[in-house]
Amino acid sequence: MKIGMYPGTFDPVTVGHLDIIKRSEKLVDKLIVAIAEHPGPKEPLFSIADRVKLVQDDVAALGLKIEIEVTGFDDLLIHYAEQRNVSMILRGLRAVSDFDYEFQMTGMNYQLNPDIQTVFLMSQDRYQFISSRFVKEICRLGGNIEKFVTPGVKEALHKKFTK
Ligand code: ADP
Repeated sequence: MKIGMYPGTFDPVTVGHLDIIKRSEKLVDKLIVAIAEHPGPKEPLFSIADRVKLVQDDVAALGLKIEIEVTGFDDLLIHYAEQRNVSMILRGLRAVSDFDYEFQMTGMNYQLNPDIQTVFLMSQDRYQFISSRFVKEICRLGGNIEKFVTPGVKEALHKKFTK
């Protein structure tokens, strides 16, 4: 059984993320969507519980044939991948701007464990420009985010910004 891991912050999940999850069906038998609890110096907008729930709801609506597990993690990614018997780390690649960071991360992870391969799926052109960061910004300033997220995520974002 081939287990893949799709790591990220998912703050919140967008249709761009969902497209990568959908396409993973052709690559792995099981996908673990691993959500970084504390991704960096900046606190995420949504709690880990909320981010997990939003991905779970969106994934359930996709009705995929493979098993998708959605979980938080707070470990070094490669250690968590080893612990979960993952053979492939999946990442989405948008414009050139993603490349530098992804290139470095893949190189470091390969040094740490050459048995785990990082595989990139190029974003489809209609999702190229969608990022969680801009979706939050657009919503905060009252713009329409319907094209970028599912109705459930849209509602959760509106709740955040109308508090
Ligand atoms: P991170 O903080 O690790 O970049 P994100 O949640 O922003 O976490 O993204 C997780 C993964 O999904 C990354 O590989 C990112 O490049 C990819 N991704 C994000 N948005 C899109 C999109 N619109 N199309 C394809 N891949 C995407």
